[in-house]
Amino acid sequence: MLPLLSEARPDDRPDLRSMMLPEVAALVERLGEKPFRAKQLFRWVHHKGAASLDEMTDLPRPFRERLAQVASLTTLVIDAVQVSIDGTRKYRMRTADGKLIESVYMPDETGGEQAFDPDVEADEGGVPSKRVRRTLCVSTQVGCAMGCGFCLTATMGLVRNLTSGEIADQVYRVNADLRALGGVAMDPQRPLTNLVYMGMGEPLHNYAHVKRSLDLLLDEQGANFSHRHVTVSTSGLVPNIQRLGEETQVKLAVSLNATTDEQRERLMPVDRKWNIAALIDACRKFPMKYGRRITFEYVLLRGVNDTDEDASRLADLLRGIPAKVNLIPYNENPGLGFGDPGVERVQAFRRILELRGLAAMVRKNRGRDISAACGQLAVAGNEEARR
Ligand code: SAH
Ligand code: SF4
Repeated sequence: MLPLLSEARPDDRPDLRSMMLPEVAALVERLGEKPFRAKQLFRWVHHKGAASLDEMTDLPRPFRERLAQVASLTTLVIDAVQVSIDGTRKYRMRTADGKLIESVYMPDETGGEQAFDPDVEADEGGVPSKRVRRTLCVSTQVGCAMGCGFCLTATMGLVRNLTSGEIADQVYRVNADLRALGGVAMDPQRPLTNLVYMGMGEPLHNYAHVKRSLDLLLDEQGANFSHRHVTVSTSGLVPNIQRLGEETQVKLAVSLNATTDEQRERLMPVDRKWNIAALIDACRKFPMKYGRRITFEYVLLRGVNDTDEDASRLADLLRGIPAKVNLIPYNENPGLGFGDPGVERVQAFRRILELRGLAAMVRKNRGRDISAACGQLAVAGNEEARR
């Protein structure tokens, strides 16, 4: 049997993986197929996460052949996997044009206190959730334009935005890999339960594709994620924080990382455009469901933003906002010139926040044994590819 996609022209055919159900329906109608085929096709692409048209065996072959002529199906290729002793799996994935991105799988089979997922202690209403959580951290861009001084991804600059299909497909490739590994009792078809948009790239700098990927991943006919289990993290693009609040119901995480503009604009150039006051104001206005909180991420950098005064200023800044703080001990990247403050300083910082009534947790450094910081696997790979 000939593989259908290799017969097709590698041109600008629209990508099935990026189409919402009504768009698939329009395409199906254009091809003169029965309307019920649209839902069937959409479910193959987003519910089952099929990697190719060949897998869609209950669609008539002539239909699939015509589809392959007029549309493509974006599917990432898993290029490398690093497995940590704590169960974390770091995937390097390759796009059709040979770019490398990273997605990180973090299991929490105990459902207990763990720190990467900002949705730690509660679903809505503050009820502790003890369910099994299997979280994927997805990338939204190849590289990033925001230029944060401590971040390895920043050193690549922005290569390109990921499409909505590429963002969603990270989920489908990892689900397929976990399925193949077996041992996943709860939902053997789609093991992942939670998503965090915290991989390479700035989600709100690729707003349209990120928004569409959320619509695809939350679709009942697709992967059917709950908005309660999806978090988008941003370095602080204020107008798009507002848009995200208006147009979606997902949770917000903000990478604050500093408590004065003088400090923050040195670490994060975005602060020159939207300073701390503007950012905090946008957070205050962010529509919040009952019992929800905004996660504030704070990367602790030795001797830069880790003093008792910083902790105290952080508590002042967040006063009155339903907030939780995710303290992230810096994952050192040789050459960037920043250091991890160490366990004692991190705990002292956390204690000050707690004394001020702020929920603060220290993010467990997942998968430290496999490859230090987020982006390291893909950044190295992209450099190699360039050479
Ligand atoms: N661009 C978005 C999401 C991706 S970065 C954002 O900035 O929020 C995800 C998180 O990783 C951010 O909170 C960022 O501050 C943090 N981060 C980046 N490099 C890091 C490093 N080397 N060690 C620890 N955290 C890091
Ligand atoms: Fe981009 Fe986030 Fe890294 Fe800043 S921390 S450069 S916004 S990925």
